Amino acid sequence: DQALTIATPPPAGKVLLVGAGPGDPGLLTLRGLRALNEADVILVDRLVSPAVLSLARRDAQVIDVGKARGGPHESTQARIHALMVSYARQGCCVVRLKGGDPMVFGRGGEELQHLKRHGIAYEVVPGITAALACGAYAGIPLTHRDHAQSLTLATAHCRTGAAKPPDLASGDGRTRVYYMGVERLPALGARLLAEGHAADLPCALVENGSRPGQRTLHATLGSVVEAARRHAIQSPALVIVGEVAALGMDLAWFGETLRPASSDTLRRLAVA
Ligand code: SAH
Repeated sequence: DQALTIATPPPAGKVLLVGAGPGDPGLLTLRGLRALNEADVILVDRLVSPAVLSLARRDAQVIDVGKARGGPHESTQARIHALMVSYARQGCCVVRLKGGDPMVFGRGGEELQHLKRHGIAYEVVPGITAALACGAYAGIPLTHRDHAQSLTLATAHCRTGAAKPPDLASGDGRTRVYYMGVERLPALGARLLAEGHAADLPCALVENGSRPGQRTLHATLGSVVEAARRHAIQSPALVIVGEVAALGMDLAWFGETLRPASSDTLRRLAVA
């Protein structure tokens, strides 16, 4: 019969990139807990604590994709990419569980780029990153009005063979995240330009981050003040300055993304 020839669409699976936090299950988010309860498949890293994993749905399939110390990282990463795509295409809810936060030294960016290339839907659930957990649990304020006005999260490791020499024209390899009122944006922009940062350095303003009504405005250091005024960006908003900011134009999955009408730099970086 005719009805029998109609193909059923493939089931729509998705991948949730979930931050497990530093280990204490009390530091997992409620959203992360819900994801662990909805998961059909959980791809788990070595750093994830057993206490967090024990909160997962009992009949979820747990696959250990942890990288052995000194093991072949690239092949393990390729396997993780392949597993995520394959299970999602079978219609599964896949949780990719990572220690700390998935977007801080967790290869979350590479995994999202892979999913995006393969047309797989995704969400990201942040976790408490080691820097924040260690600061809190060691009684070390990471900022203090009398002592420290800036925070840079850095790693000692580089991607093998891909260590980029610093190129000040396109950024110094640093991401700067500014917590501040929007009214201070003009002064900040002027200061960064005066310090010698390139006018085409990407930056993003995230207004109402993670809330209903989130808007992310993409611009360059040279254009962000005018763009923020034009879009009437309001506090609360966070400013992220650095090449990584442009990746959000491609990888965004939540809220509204405001892209510049024209900027060769941003388009080049977004597909990098
Ligand atoms: N995505 C993780 C970081 C992964 S890189 C995060 O956001 O925390 C792994 C490094 O993070 C470790 O080598 C260690 O330096 C640090 N780290 C992760 N969990 C930690 C913990 N509970 N205590 C101290 N350092 C931790």
